Amino acid sequence: MRAMLRARFGEEVYGSWFQQVEFESIEGRTVRVSLPTKFLQTWIQSHYADGLLECCKAEFTGVERLEVVVREFGAACGRTTEAATAGNIRSKPLVPGEASAIGPRRVMVGPGPALARTNVNGFEGSPLDLKYTFESFVEGKANSFALAVASQVAATVLDERRQFNPLYLHSAVGLGKTHLLHAIAWEVKRRFPKAQVLYLTAERFRYQFVEAVRSQDAMAFKDKFRAIDILLIDDLEFMQGEKTEQEFEHIINALLDGGRQVVVASARPPGQLDRLNDRMRSRMQRGLLTEIGEFDEDLRLKILERRVQEKRTTDPSFGLSAPVLKLLAERLTENGRELEGAVNRLYLTWQLLRAPITLELVETIIRDLVLGIEPRRIKVEDILRIVSRHFAVSRADILSDRRHRSVVRPRQIGMYLAKQLTSRSLPEIGRRFGNRDHTTVLHAIRKIDKELGDNPRLKDEIEELKRQLNR
Ligand code: ADP
Ligand code: MG
Repeated sequence: MRAMLRARFGEEVYGSWFQQVEFESIEGRTVRVSLPTKFLQTWIQSHYADGLLECCKAEFTGVERLEVVVREFGAACGRTTEAATAGNIRSKPLVPGEASAIGPRRVMVGPGPALARTNVNGFEGSPLDLKYTFESFVEGKANSFALAVASQVAATVLDERRQFNPLYLHSAVGLGKTHLLHAIAWEVKRRFPKAQVLYLTAERFRYQFVEAVRSQDAMAFKDKFRAIDILLIDDLEFMQGEKTEQEFEHIINALLDGGRQVVVASARPPGQLDRLNDRMRSRMQRGLLTEIGEFDEDLRLKILERRVQEKRTTDPSFGLSAPVLKLLAERLTENGRELEGAVNRLYLTWQLLRAPITLELVETIIRDLVLGIEPRRIKVEDILRIVSRHFAVSRADILSDRRHRSVVRPRQIGMYLAKQLTSRSLPEIGRRFGNRDHTTVLHAIRKIDKELGDNPRLKDEIEELKRQLNR
């Protein structure tokens, strides 16, 4: 593809405009490519869309349409903005399933993963991702307990003596709650084909309930839950609305009293969900609460390796070198979504350009993922980067044990900014600043805070750093 683009547009045009093109996905007959800025997107769109589409058609059988979009964080999850379509090239309407016209070697795992739904009594659950199984779930310190309990729950769903009911999983975003819920659902369906499984996000529950009330079907709504063997509720923190919550409480109580398995995932433990009333809270707390912790580097590396392996089953020519994997594992510290996003990006870039995946390319992708564009949320990783650049000390020095003032100062300012600008707790900040104790972080914050009062230069400096971080 790279050679084709070069040949078609010439070395110069290629070098100026196409280097930043990234391949995002093929969905049905549409190829989506992205560029990092609105300017580049418009430029490619207006000058090179037709030629680019022709190259894509030649390379990917079955492609008929091209979308040029501005890259944003999360594009790998299917969110796109500012999509612009190339001409009226589409000749036939898209038919679901037609994607299979694209031969297996060309089928790429893009934004739209394969999905299925659970269904009880004609009541449709939320989509289940075929990829989220126990087999594809990588075990590490952060999640081994949650994983063990989840497998146990799946194995004993129909067992009178099931132990963990309800099971309540919680963690920060992107650490595998949804993955585990889907894995339980798939496993139950596999082991007990007759079992009635329903997986629902809290949002879908609410939507279905509101619909039922609107069409005066509230009784039938409750009835549908009767037959359920296992109810899996995702994103409980989004359960909203007084009536909905009451209904939810009734249903959960009825299921638990009837000895049916309930599994709940939430961003917060029950004690910290204001939406939950006291009865529900204590009912949840009587079950088993487990938290998935932050991933350590070892787990991040293993997840990356697994993702690469999965891609290799479709395209064995794809691979990432050990230094690339290590760099990704070191820097993508936030959650599993980033890890998945990075591998997707690199894979798609490989599909498009067939050029070696260099550390430099990986750096750009990391910057993209870590910075994100929207919503603008500052991460400890950004702070480390900006502080290190501003004070011209290396990131490694900031994280090290060195006590020279030239290092201590930026380190303290970094911790101060982390406390002010992120939602991380003191122990978390300590961990990210080279495994320091939370009292060290507290000391740093107090020191900077105190000094800010009578040192206007420091104040300006911090303001400047904040500006850079918000850019
Ligand atoms: P949550 O529901 O906690 O926000 P998800 O289950 O959506 O998180 O996980 C985010 C991404 O990270 C998914 O792509 C998921 O497959 C991946 N992921 C998380 N934990 C693991 C793990 N232990 N092994 C493999 N992939 C994981
Ligand atoms: Mg989730």
